[in-house]
Amino acid sequence: MLRLYEKYLEAVDEYLEKCFSGQKPFIKCSAGCANCCEIGEYPISRLEMEYLMEGFLSLPLSVKNEIKENIKNLLALKSKNEGRFLHRCPFLSSEKRCFIYERRGVICRAHGLAYFEEVGGQKVVKLPECSRMGLNYSETFDGESVSMERFKAFGVDSPIKHPLDLNFFEKDLLKGFAGIEFGEVRPMLEWFN
Ligand code: SF4
Repeated sequence: MLRLYEKYLEAVDEYLEKCFSGQKPFIKCSAGCANCCEIGEYPISRLEMEYLMEGFLSLPLSVKNEIKENIKNLLALKSKNEGRFLHRCPFLSSEKRCFIYERRGVICRAHGLAYFEEVGGQKVVKLPECSRMGLNYSETFDGESVSMERFKAFGVDSPIKHPLDLNFFEKDLLKGFAGIEFGEVRPMLEWFN
């Protein structure tokens, strides 16, 4: 299953590359910014987690120990915290590099793209949280969302479906990947509880 998923990721990366290229008027990530890895819950499915942890096993011992320490500290903090626990990703290095970049989940790959949600039968374009912080999209951000018309007026391709919908490639790309089952999705830390 993991090797099939690896092939699926190749198709996903190719698809997302086109999306990022099409959405260039909206994508203004600054170099070295890892804001999307600094605060969040990082929802991830069982299959993605298995793939990530397979990569973890081949990391140098010192890196593995650093990640383990991060997870231990976060779980301790989480146990004192009720409700939603937003935190730095334990796989982010102190130099703001992803330790398991090639193995990261789909949401990490798609982060930064505009996506759409159906609200009352209408497609509403949503922009990622960093746009609210002036870290991205600053020329186009106009509050909670951007209309599909305005989005199209920039001459960019359609936004993707919500990046948490792991089957958002289903119709076009999952052909040939029929055996893939993502399984349950949980906030990342919950896989370590
Ligand atoms: S897995 Fe990597 S890319 Fe994803 S949030 Fe963590 S550090 Fe960032």
